[in-house]
Amino acid sequence: MTAPFVDLHELRCHFKSGDNLLAAVDGVNLQIAAGEVLGLVGESGSGKSTLGRIIAGLQSRSAGNIVIDGKTMPHKYSRRQFRAMSTQIQMVFQDSYASLNPRMTILASLQEPLWSLGVKGQAARDKAAYWLDRVGLPQSAGERYPHELSGGQRQRIGIARAFIAEPKLVICDEPVSALDVSVQAQIINLLQELQREHNTAMLFIAHDLAVVRFLASRTAVMYLGEIVEIGPTAAVFESPRHPYTVRLLAAHLDGNPGERVLRTATPVKAIANRAPLATDGGCRFAPRCQMAEAACSNSPPWLHASRVKTEAACHRLVDIEIINSKLKA
Ligand code: ADP
Ligand code: MG
Repeated sequence: MTAPFVDLHELRCHFKSGDNLLAAVDGVNLQIAAGEVLGLVGESGSGKSTLGRIIAGLQSRSAGNIVIDGKTMPHKYSRRQFRAMSTQIQMVFQDSYASLNPRMTILASLQEPLWSLGVKGQAARDKAAYWLDRVGLPQSAGERYPHELSGGQRQRIGIARAFIAEPKLVICDEPVSALDVSVQAQIINLLQELQREHNTAMLFIAHDLAVVRFLASRTAVMYLGEIVEIGPTAAVFESPRHPYTVRLLAAHLDGNPGERVLRTATPVKAIANRAPLATDGGCRFAPRCQMAEAACSNSPPWLHASRVKTEAACHRLVDIEIINSKLKA
């Protein structure tokens, strides 16, 4: 395998929350290969946006290493370093206003990433005109200001702006969550087309599991700052291995395998020798886990590779594998 484009080692990000430290990202090891689409799911507050923002250089980390394209990134970027990095990594936000200057015309906003690359004048205008068209907007939209566009049109501009300088990685953080359902599919299709056209790596953060299943070739599941399961999308969705993934799938996708695993797993809870569960030093999901047993509160589980090429951080993987294989039989 060639070196990944993004390589994160024990990445941590702590925020002060009163007298306590809140670990928004807590020891993440993650690779994103050139050209791959990695989905990132997990409930609100699990640290997905923070992780994305750290990779994009918009949030500093508390500890850990970031290697991008083989180069170890400094802890804090200088202006020049940030600019160099942002030509390689771009972000599409949920709030389509976030990446646009309200006082700049759309055409100027589109050209801005090119200016920092030294592409100016007619060359920049031509490229912006091409991208307006490419994301499905008329040339007249270029003369408008962000507030004059609909949410869907603004997100098309956000996407054009992210792709215009041909970055190696585009991080999409809930890019369609704020849009009408009727335009969500169009935007998702546009992102997929552009990703394929330019072979851009993508980190796709979403609540909507169906969208991740559709777009991503690999999926990572985050819980309280940690990646608890990661693997090929089909494997994660069809044979979820971490009880949290099982719960997430069961709650968000009707009639999916997660639900069946959950139902089959229930008897396991009944026979499990449940001791009072501590959260310190053990598995963070244990207090909510219907498969937790005493051992789960004693030591933290780490990510284990398995035959199905997914990794899950769970002390009860063997039992889950048995359930999954029974369901398959
Ligand atoms: P997600 O995107 O998965 O919903 P976030 O990364 O936004 O999660 O947040 C993870 C945790 O970090 C949450 O508990 C959130 O309240 C906290 N958090 C995020 N950003 C900040 C910040 N700038 N200051 C303090 N706490 C933050
Ligand atoms: Mg978020």
